[in-house]
Amino acid sequence: MKDGLSEKSMDKLVAVSRKYGSDPDYVLAGGGNTSWKENGVMAVKASGTELGNITSKGFVRLDLDKLQYIRTKKYPEDRAEREEMALEDLMNSRLSGEEGRPSVESLLHAIIPEKIVVHTHPALVNGLTCSVKGAEKAEELFPGRSLWIPLVDPGYILAKTVDDELVKWASSHNGRQPDYIFLANHGVFLWGNDLDEIDRKSENLFEVLKGSVTDPSPVVTDNGAEVSEDLLEKVGSLAGKEGKALFTTGPEIRELLGTKESAAPLLNSLSPDHIVYMGHTPLVYNDIPDDKLFPQIEKDYQEFTEKWGMEPKSILVLGKGIISIGNSMKSAELARLLMLDAIRVIRISKSFGGPEFMSEEKVNFINTWEVEKYRAKQSG
Ligand SMILES: [Zn+2]
Repeated sequence: MKDGLSEKSMDKLVAVSRKYGSDPDYVLAGGGNTSWKENGVMAVKASGTELGNITSKGFVRLDLDKLQYIRTKKYPEDRAEREEMALEDLMNSRLSGEEGRPSVESLLHAIIPEKIVVHTHPALVNGLTCSVKGAEKAEELFPGRSLWIPLVDPGYILAKTVDDELVKWASSHNGRQPDYIFLANHGVFLWGNDLDEIDRKSENLFEVLKGSVTDPSPVVTDNGAEVSEDLLEKVGSLAGKEGKALFTTGPEIRELLGTKESAAPLLNSLSPDHIVYMGHTPLVYNDIPDDKLFPQIEKDYQEFTEKWGMEPKSILVLGKGIISIGNSMKSAELARLLMLDAIRVIRISKSFGGPEFMSEEKVNFINTWEVEKYRAKQSG
């Protein structure tokens, strides 16, 4: 029977996961995942687990032969049917006794032959992957070293696309492999046979990107504007008994929210993580007195919930700041974290031709995809 990783390997997997998972430049909240292949088994992060404080229990062990079977199997054309079947096969690839739910990106990890795979969604990288000239700039910055994957349905289709494109890439590059796979509107995959290789590639990735971006720094917040505690309490209560609303502002935020036009980019979605944690679109208001604002928010909150089958997570008050809402302190904080990330990504993307957003059709897929609903629920 397969039992997978040695204790030493598991310790190294935990260490590399914590290293990148606890660095906010690489990983926010439950984003990103890591894996290790050994003795026909792949240990991969369980969905909804946070990398920064992960232990060996945060990984699920999968049988690589069974993952190989998913790779070659023919699935139905119908999206819902296909994803349901692929997810079932993924669950069935777990070693007996495993109860965690493997990351939806497990198949992608399995496709890469190297032992260690690290997948993250850094703001610096997403400034590139969520930009108009992303593909072109990736080749310019990492000549002959990166594979660009355009935006496709996540899950099975994404894995299948990467599988096919890696083969094509190798045949046009003397059988070599790229150092990086950039996924449009998503993030980056890199890998290695030891931890040094992972560190080397990560450092080079950040060094090159930082050198080609005007300002990669995090968004600065301050107390330059505020809304009343009373308003925040009332808005928070819309999200339920434990509901919370948090206000955030800062110089860059106030400038971005200066007018409806300048705030327009924030009405769009950059990546699946942004959709899951801060919502696919915010409610937007002019800066009017708080007591007049609440009745409007209350009405729009209900309408939004009825229209989309989910509650709004972000509110923009033009010229002032952002209100992040969640059904718990943690989910409100996540909504805020991802909003700050989105603003940073949009700023960085300007070094690569400006932001490129997800199409409505792709956004709807994420919003209705069972896999992402599971992830959103884990954070609540
Ligand atoms: Zn991802």
